[in-house]
Amino acid sequence: MSTWPIGVFASVDAGLGVKLEVARDLGVPTIQLHAPHKESRTPEKAAAFLAKLKDYGITLTAVFGGFEGESYADIPTVVRTVGLVPPETRAARLKEKKEISDFAKLLGCNVVALHVGFVPHDANAPLFKEVVAVVQDLCDHCKKNGQALHLETGQESADGLLQFIAAVGRDNLFINFDPANMILYGTEEPIAALRKVGKYVRSIHCKDGTWAKHPGQEWGCEVPLGQGDVGMYNYLKTLKEIGYTGPLTIEREIPQEPERQKAEIGHAVRLLTALKEKLL
Ligand code: MG
Repeated sequence: MSTWPIGVFASVDAGLGVKLEVARDLGVPTIQLHAPHKESRTPEKAAAFLAKLKDYGITLTAVFGGFEGESYADIPTVVRTVGLVPPETRAARLKEKKEISDFAKLLGCNVVALHVGFVPHDANAPLFKEVVAVVQDLCDHCKKNGQALHLETGQESADGLLQFIAAVGRDNLFINFDPANMILYGTEEPIAALRKVGKYVRSIHCKDGTWAKHPGQEWGCEVPLGQGDVGMYNYLKTLKEIGYTGPLTIEREIPQEPERQKAEIGHAVRLLTALKEKLL
């Protein structure tokens, strides 16, 4: 693959990404895929999807997994419902995430990713140790499938992420860096964070957002690429500095407005193409 191929976050039937046809229409050469529902994760559907990708000339670079019952309504709800952190759903979600890893293998994809949830900052907390154990288990399953596991950045600071990755201690655990999430959750300034965690960054999202009035207590606002507080030129410049050459995957989660979503992603493609010309 060339340096920084443009990508878009896509969905089949689950998740908030665009349809594959949108990627095709916009001439985007790579996608990350939100894993489809269980009934769609069959060898037949995988083969049909792969045929479509081939037909459209699109490369799949990562398979994300979300879970039933997750809600991003507000920050406390995320803490309670998202990822592998909530104890009551953990075992079932671990099982499902392993099935998603197996489905990604059917798609010939060697990266699976997820938002693990709100990892506690205190490494001595029992919950921290439980989440480390479940991620070790998942990493080992992915490893058997020849895959890396990428953690979507969100609430964790750079130092928190480094602490967690070190505690998990697996050589196939990396980061999917999302600069907007750091702003939306009010975690910390994303460019400085990117420099700190750079050696673990193996995939990224191009998403933008503005800081909340009270960061960490309420959401910031997700906005079209280039209109928020990330600073896209600086973001790409920093990606270059840390030696990142992988896809620039645009994420814009407004599927309730498909026309606007497509138009804004088209604009994002043009913005990133122009920035690539300046920086590469
Ligand atoms: Mg993201």
